[in-house]
Amino acid sequence: TVFLRELRKTYEATAGTVTALDGVTVGFEQSTFTAIMGPSGSGKSTLLHCAAGLEQPTSGTVTVDGTVLGELGGNELTRFRRDRIGFVFQDFNLVSSLTAAQNVALPARLAGRRADAAAVTAVLDGVGLADRAAHRPSELSGGQQQRVAIARALFAQPAVVFADEPTGALDKATSHQILTLMRRMVDEHGRTIVLVTHDPVAAAVADRVLLLVDGRVTDEMAGADAAAVADRMTAMERSW
Ligand code: ATP
Ligand code: MG
Repeated sequence: TVFLRELRKTYEATAGTVTALDGVTVGFEQSTFTAIMGPSGSGKSTLLHCAAGLEQPTSGTVTVDGTVLGELGGNELTRFRRDRIGFVFQDFNLVSSLTAAQNVALPARLAGRRADAAAVTAVLDGVGLADRAAHRPSELSGGQQQRVAIARALFAQPAVVFADEPTGALDKATSHQILTLMRRMVDEHGRTIVLVTHDPVAAAVADRVLLLVDGRVTDEMAGADAAAVADRMTAMERSW
């Protein structure tokens, strides 16, 4: 279970202070799948980065399974993240000099765990990339790189997975496969998944959809109502 309390994040940009998160209080229970939708710049990536301990909030707290991330030292936080949290970055963040298989195994290696070759192949197979294990990122399509990033986040079977637009570069069929894989992780293995998406079809897989606007959660609804969220966003986009 991840709990965010009164999370605020401001950035000092050249042109002045930007408020990316403006007091977000929300919980992500174990065995739940949450989708976060919202306009570009509304703070979705910032929210995931803070929740995963990749960025420090300006104020407020993040608690993961009872541990307050802000109370951990640097090394403790790194270890905690590696043990429990998987993250799919919006821009993939693959290491360009490593193959797909080496990228997948990297977090486990860094955590001092064995990354069994058969297990790496199995997770790559799960995202439809068994035949690309030895390819480097530059030798893969955008959607294939995205799937390597997903495989890397899922490899260690973390309790919590944060995924920032994990299906943005995928076609419908591949996207459906990935979402089904994630849904199974929640239903059969009790994982917690928080996914940012612009796609109402992806959001519909979630138990719950949060709408983030200007750094605040303004609405919450069932995944089945994701189409309504999308309509509301379209209306918002039309208004500017
Ligand atoms: P998108 O859908 O385009 O990915 P987002 O909802 O993920 O958008 P964020 O990346 O969280 O949005 O950004 C939220 C706000 O914070 C934006 O206004 C952005 O300009 C600002 N911001 C993000 N990172 C920084 C930074 N490092 N320095 C200054 N401002 C930043
Ligand atoms: Mg983003």
